[in-house]
Amino acid sequence: MSTASDLIYLDNNATTRVDPAVVEEMLPWLSENYGNPSSGYRFGKKVNDALEVARERVATLLGCEASEVLFTSCGTESTNAAIHSALAMDRDRQHIVTTRVEHSATLKTCELLAKRGHPVTWLGVDSDGQIDLGELENAITDETALVSIMWANNETGVTFPVEKIADIVRAKGAVFHSDAVQIVGKTPFKLSDMKVNLLSMSGHKLHAPKGVGVLYVNRRTKFVPWMTGGGQEGSRRAGTQNVASIIALGKACEIAAQQIGHEETAVKKMRDDFEDGVLARVASVQVNGDRVNRLPNTTSLAFSGVESEAMLMLLDQRGICCSAGSACTTGQHEPSHVLRAMGCDDTRARGTLRFSFGRFNTAADVARALKIIPEVAEKVRRVAAAA
Ligand SMILES: *Cc1c(COP(=O)(O)O)cnc(C)c1O
Repeated sequence: MSTASDLIYLDNNATTRVDPAVVEEMLPWLSENYGNPSSGYRFGKKVNDALEVARERVATLLGCEASEVLFTSCGTESTNAAIHSALAMDRDRQHIVTTRVEHSATLKTCELLAKRGHPVTWLGVDSDGQIDLGELENAITDETALVSIMWANNETGVTFPVEKIADIVRAKGAVFHSDAVQIVGKTPFKLSDMKVNLLSMSGHKLHAPKGVGVLYVNRRTKFVPWMTGGGQEGSRRAGTQNVASIIALGKACEIAAQQIGHEETAVKKMRDDFEDGVLARVASVQVNGDRVNRLPNTTSLAFSGVESEAMLMLLDQRGICCSAGSACTTGQHEPSHVLRAMGCDDTRARGTLRFSFGRFNTAADVARALKIIPEVAEKVRRVAAAA
């Protein structure tokens, strides 16, 4: 087992390190400031005021109003709440349009709803991982309640043209939800200029703790609560808030707003140097997906003649954390649904590794990974050829 100091963490799409400044910000809310934000006395009000500061910070990063930010327990909850709200609005609109490359939070929820009788249209993608906007437009009917399309793919980093998608959905009168978990903090955007109704984000993909998320609800979009109970979050999400984690998320958003230029320059440079380095040093490696419309931090690489599980194990022994597909599918040997939807054959999909960078990575991480990966790929290929 490697010690934390020689760990090369290249799995920032699975989760990120909590920023030390974020930890510091949250600590008082785990200790002396333990009041309930819904209590009427000053000791509670102080906590509520801190939640509102966090809400403002999130709103600034998203380019929306604080009243449009609902705190949830995670990105998955945000997406479930969005989908259920859209279906609860109009009995005559029960059709869902989504894509074949969504995160399991959307995918499994829509599969379950399909089993319960909701018509679901699954949009396919081309070999770059892109959907066809004409096909999207044709899929939306008078019965469509919801279009749920992610902004950036967690496995490949491929980004969809969400601004255009939002325009198409709005013109057809359906509700548009986007899973923006992977893009928030990496690429700037301004929700007030866009026709997005509902949007999900998650703390732990952005250097805040696990177990806190946000659902953005546009102020003109009707919202039917999924969690019912107390009047928290403007009676739109019941349950006493996860105060310390929400305050942490607010701080993480404040830092992300300051650091977003760094993601697009320094983090992107590490990803590009790494990707170019692997392609130059290891034969028969291909990049999966659109290389232009892509997150600045992600590369999905198909190593031919390699089982990614074998590579992961050897890389782990050398201190490198990366992943095959998404964390949620690791352990199962099923090839990734995303790569399959892109038309990758199973061998290519099974030889794919995802490397995702973050602002706590260094050029030294890239250099060490570029030394280790060719050795490991060569070893795995040698063993496979001998078998
Ligand atoms: C991680 C992730 C989620 C789930 O967020 P949680 O907070 O872990 O529930 C949803 N969508 C995408 C694209 C993700 O990467």
